[in-house]
Amino acid sequence: MQTDQQRRQYLQAMVIQTWLLRRPESRCLEEAPISENVDIHQANQVVSALEQPVVATDWHGLQAEVSVCRRCDLCQQRNQTVFGVGNPDADLLVVGEAPGAEEDAQGEPFVGASGKLLNQMLLAIGLKRENVYIANIVKCRPTDDRDPRAAEVAACEHYLKQQIALIQPKIIFAVGRIAAQNLLKSDQKVGDMRGQKFEYGDSRISLVVSYHPAYLLRMPSAKRKAWQDLLFARQVLNSK
Ligand code: SF4
Repeated sequence: MQTDQQRRQYLQAMVIQTWLLRRPESRCLEEAPISENVDIHQANQVVSALEQPVVATDWHGLQAEVSVCRRCDLCQQRNQTVFGVGNPDADLLVVGEAPGAEEDAQGEPFVGASGKLLNQMLLAIGLKRENVYIANIVKCRPTDDRDPRAAEVAACEHYLKQQIALIQPKIIFAVGRIAAQNLLKSDQKVGDMRGQKFEYGDSRISLVVSYHPAYLLRMPSAKRKAWQDLLFARQVLNSK
């Protein structure tokens, strides 16, 4: 059980004023790269590759499949795939965007400064990193940390879908625009999606949107809103 003092420490670590506590609660396909400039022959090959089903239906098989995946360009310069981390039976699934340099080096999502902040955010609502599951929209690092392209997201989304089907979380906490827009098939801004309870796909798993920890590091003034999102996510989770 988390004490108020522990909570205050975590919140202080997030640089959130503690008075807030008083508020009410491919070139990897061998023949054709996936890029925005493929010709029709290449495009047909890409489509064909994307139509190949993800074979693995069990956790370890899926992990193994992702580890050798060459379905899109992002395999070219990765050091390794970043499958996800945490409890595969978690009630809460955090979904971010894509691995960055540190994640690519360590093979784990949300490490470094962003990961530290995410851990503190989770602890602030009584959840340890190892008790939730953390994954990204794409499993390989886009070079120069650009946003993943639509074709790359499309190539990779079967894996996340399968992860969600296996985890069956009670709530998905989508952090950042790329995660929220792709999971909800929406073009709304994060700021417009915050504070609402969405449903993910046919499974109708509750989904709450917030800012990406990397954004919060750049924009500390948004941490207060992120704290409100965390409380809302906790409330949704508690209602399950
Ligand atoms: S990003 Fe996804 S689809 Fe692309 S190579 Fe990596 S694991 Fe495969």
